[in-house]
Amino acid sequence: MFSTGTDVMGRPAREAAEAHTSQEGLVYQVCRWCHTASFRKLLCPVCASSDLESAHSDGHGVVIRSNVVNRYSRIMRNESLVRFPEGFVYRCRIVGAAPHLVNVGDRVRPLGGRTSVAGEVVLEVCDPPGSAGWY
Ligand SMILES: [Zn+2]
Repeated sequence: MFSTGTDVMGRPAREAAEAHTSQEGLVYQVCRWCHTASFRKLLCPVCASSDLESAHSDGHGVVIRSNVVNRYSRIMRNESLVRFPEGFVYRCRIVGAAPHLVNVGDRVRPLGGRTSVAGEVVLEVCDPPGSAGWY
């Protein structure tokens, strides 16, 4: 018997065709005056300046408030408040786990490595419940 080597499958091939929104993660705004980070705001939430500069986040965040909408219906889903390390908070749709199993403190990341520029931000749970049977 010989042992097969470990295959390196953790790296999906990057598509060559990057026609639209090739940038992974999220684009957020940083105020040029007070350096407050915000997301999808027209004005700085702190000093109300409109002088915002776009910056890039990898989109990884942590759930700080989990909220199930349309509970007990077929379109039940989770819309959680997610805090991003860059310093902004945004309500995002969470997938990758049952809506009621998304917990505060769960780490989330952009679904498929990116989110749409317009529309809702969809994030998936990094550690789906069920794989966390350690305690
Ligand atoms: Zn500001």
